Amino acid sequence: MDIYSGPVFEMARQQFHAVADHLAIPENERDRLLYPKRAIAVAVPVNMDDGRTRVFNGYRVQHHLTLGPTKGGTRFAPKLDLGEVGALAVWMSWKCALVGLPYGGAKGGVACDPRGLSKRELEALSRRYMQEMIPFVGPHTDIMAPDLGTNEQIMAWFMDTYSMFQGHAVTEIVTGKPVAVGGTVGRREATGRGIAYLVARALEAIKHKAAETTAIVQGFGNVGSVAALTLARRMGVKVVGLSDHTAAYYDADGLPLDAIEDHARRHDGVLAGWSKESMIDGEELLTQPCTVLVPAAIERVITEKNAGRLQCRILAEGANGPTTPAADTILDQRQNEIFVIPDILCNSGGVIVSYFEWVQDLQQLFWTEAEINHRLEQILETAFRQIARRGRNDRVSSRVAAMALGVEKVRAGKRLRGLFP
Ligand code: NAD
Repeated sequence: MDIYSGPVFEMARQQFHAVADHLAIPENERDRLLYPKRAIAVAVPVNMDDGRTRVFNGYRVQHHLTLGPTKGGTRFAPKLDLGEVGALAVWMSWKCALVGLPYGGAKGGVACDPRGLSKRELEALSRRYMQEMIPFVGPHTDIMAPDLGTNEQIMAWFMDTYSMFQGHAVTEIVTGKPVAVGGTVGRREATGRGIAYLVARALEAIKHKAAETTAIVQGFGNVGSVAALTLARRMGVKVVGLSDHTAAYYDADGLPLDAIEDHARRHDGVLAGWSKESMIDGEELLTQPCTVLVPAAIERVITEKNAGRLQCRILAEGANGPTTPAADTILDQRQNEIFVIPDILCNSGGVIVSYFEWVQDLQQLFWTEAEINHRLEQILETAFRQIARRGRNDRVSSRVAAMALGVEKVRAGKRLRGLFP
């Protein structure tokens, strides 16, 4: 299956084989577990404001259909390719299985720079992408959600476009929608809140007081901003470093989050221009001293070049795939110094509350935010304990333990269903 190329899919492939070796999965079974069931590539034509017609590449990959419909985010990013989308779909499968959701993984997106598009162009692109996907998705086939470069508004356009073709409102086709059109309370905050909950559990495990904790967060979008604000406001953590694609700031005495949040709100969500004094190079930021480091932006930022120099006690992987396999080897040697909360657990709050949103839309029965948060924490707690137990018993890293739990469930489903015909 060499249609999935590039460094991100290679990462997913290497991680899978490491876990498959650990589980002694025969070679004969591996391709069926690893390679996605379906990959869809579409041309997405858009009439631009300057009169040109541009054609963007759109993708959707559905990893496995063994345990239910597929589920996954939609990424709008300039260099997006099939390998990256495929890797994200594979990770999503292990994540859903780990936390017990009845889904296979999926991912999709469009290779574009959403910041370079006018609002009208962005809406046209979003609607045409969804229209191209209609034959391949559905509330019982594949349910979309937001990811890097997409947001609640884009999910509302997706939902509207799909619904127009059905002739009635189909709210359950996407999650991460605004509450006013069938979204759920707590979804926008879910990934960041989940990260904060798991960081609290990791702090307990290493016996470190929340009030004496410092954090550095890379990325100030949906995931990073909520994670930083929740750590600071709910747990009293001092946030000493923050970055996005435009700027990075570090202050050992703590950054003023209210002022930074206000700045970002008034400047299109970006951090650039807030202060000259606390500026630092974005890569340098990752190796500054802190208790908790939260990469919450893009993949492959913790590499063999910086893994040995990290000065955190907890690495809470908010982003998908932030740590390369070469960096993992170094982190394995530093297991007593750095507690890793692997991505498929750490950012699973997003898909867990997306699942709650889908269930509520199907039933047309909505829950309170307290119920959402309570159920979210129950699921995270169970997975956190299972991973800790498995890691101890098998003497493996938390990443291998988490992935082993996910891969095993998918494998068991495939074995029980058998191979058709
Ligand atoms: P987003 O588009 O809302 O925000 C992304 C942030 O990352 C922005 O602040 C951007 O400026 C920053 N960024 C981009 N490149 C950067 C760089 N080189 N250095 C520093 N910052 C950079 O996206 P998001 O939804 O917050 O997603 C972030 C990550 O979390 C992705 O890996 C995504 O797959 C993962 N994730 C998201 C969700 C969700 O619910 N949105 C759920 C699970 C996982």
